[in-house]
Amino acid sequence: MSELTIFHKIIAGEIPCDSVYDTEDVLGFKDIHPKAPTHILFVAKKEEHFVPSIIDLTDETQHVPCMLIRAAQEFAKEKGIEGFKLTFHCGKGGGQEVFFLHLHFMSQQSL
Ligand code: AMP
Repeated sequence: MSELTIFHKIIAGEIPCDSVYDTEDVLGFKDIHPKAPTHILFVAKKEEHFVPSIIDLTDETQHVPCMLIRAAQEFAKEKGIEGFKLTFHCGKGGGQEVFFLHLHFMSQQSL
């Protein structure tokens, strides 16, 4: 991964976040500009899983989106959230602004 993004700094603890899910591999934190009553971003925490975008996945990183989806599923179960939407913005043309792979989790249910 070439450039450091704000999400690298959040994972490194250099910038605060409102964390709601934290395991060895995945961090989930509240989106700073929520577009739904619950809007969480899931990111991989380990350097070997860092990838800018779905567009850049390789054989080595192809499992990373599944890790993020699994984290979102576990989070929903933990919080009793019954319905939600998962989105990856892929590339500038896909509305991506932060080039550190992240999964948007949105639900009309509040935490
Ligand atoms: P994307 O368009 O998929 O790249 O989305 C990036 C998301 O990151 C946007 O929804 C922003 O609101 C969110 N965001 C940017 N900076 C922060 C931050 N410091 N803490 C939490 N969310 C952020």
